[in-house]
Amino acid sequence: MANVKFNEELEKELQTLKDTGFYVYIRTVQSPVDAWIVVDGKRVLNLTSNNYLGFANEPRLREAAKRAIDEYGIGPAAVRTISGTMTLHRVLERMLAEFKMAEDVISYQSGFNSNLSVIPAIVGREDVIFSDELNHASIIDGCRLSRAKIVRYAHADVEDLERKLKEHRHEGKRALIVTDGVFSMDGDIAPLPDILKLAKEYDAILMVDDAHGEGVLGRGGRGIVDHFGLHGEVDIEIGTLSKAFGVVGGYAASTKTVVEYLHQKSRPFLFSSATTVPDTAASIEAVKILRESEDRVRRLWDNANYFKKRMQEEGFNTWKSQTPITPIVVGDEPVAQEFSKRLFEEGVFVQAIVYPTVPKGTARLRVMISAIHTKDDLDYAVDKFVKVGKELRVI
Ligand SMILES: *Cc1c(COP(=O)(O)O)cnc(C)c1O
Repeated sequence: MANVKFNEELEKELQTLKDTGFYVYIRTVQSPVDAWIVVDGKRVLNLTSNNYLGFANEPRLREAAKRAIDEYGIGPAAVRTISGTMTLHRVLERMLAEFKMAEDVISYQSGFNSNLSVIPAIVGREDVIFSDELNHASIIDGCRLSRAKIVRYAHADVEDLERKLKEHRHEGKRALIVTDGVFSMDGDIAPLPDILKLAKEYDAILMVDDAHGEGVLGRGGRGIVDHFGLHGEVDIEIGTLSKAFGVVGGYAASTKTVVEYLHQKSRPFLFSSATTVPDTAASIEAVKILRESEDRVRRLWDNANYFKKRMQEEGFNTWKSQTPITPIVVGDEPVAQEFSKRLFEEGVFVQAIVYPTVPKGTARLRVMISAIHTKDDLDYAVDKFVKVGKELRVI
């Protein structure tokens, strides 16, 4: 018999989450992830996925995965350091390194795992980390696991970062500055060149997590380091294969030395099995497509700019967005929830993001634009936003 008291405690907590509006209700997608998807039985325009380039259901990725299964089977059945490193992992890492113009790459099972892998491997008890207050949960967890002293600086605020460096740099032997490249809830870009200057001045390692910049920023989607032309200057760049790449997996791009060190020291690499054959093969195909042409990335930006401009013309607040992540800030939490519900009824799937994920009073609908949306899709979305926005007196 399971522990009754323990289960009752959890039931109480779950009820509290429901009563206070923090419970997450999970929807089920019943179709491939495309511009239009079937969610809980209803066909809706998809404005929620991180499928920036449409790779999640791209025929070339599907075919690559199938071919690889025929040649290599499904899984490596081991961690990378025992017998889990297959030809495909090597090929992917080489191609990513070339794509990112980095000396070398180590791939992991996810972006989340990449941060858990890298941060505790490079800093420890005697060191200090400077972390943007809006950094992703996986960075926060990676920092905690490292046992280093953690100093948070105000979001994307270079002056505050410098103040914190002045005050705390001496408390660590090694210092690490870590930031998201593109911030997932606001769609703004980290001021990387200024942060880099401080990293040099204060002898700190600089690490950027480019999960939402991958396939989006830079030439042909090469990411934030390429966007700012900082190749060879940023110490470690984290990437994911689960957003623009449409698959699953993550990686760190760095010098040959750092990558060699991570092969020896990153625990999820040493103690958790390698990514599967179809995932790895599909990721390789995604890099190939990006290498061949910038068309998809250009279409993504055309769409993002078009949608943002039209929404602004209609009187919506697109917040700090500088990327295809387009928050539509509506203010109060219940308004955002109702807005999302009404849009869904109208055939548009957009997630409401509320406190505590974002500050109180800045509740928003987070629109994720993709290269595979047509202009008709975007017009459809704007029409529905206007209709519901007027209904709820947001505009
Ligand atoms: C989404 C995200 C991750 C997690 O990536 P997964 O591959 O889904 O595990 C890590 N870091 C940042 C900044 C992200 O936005």
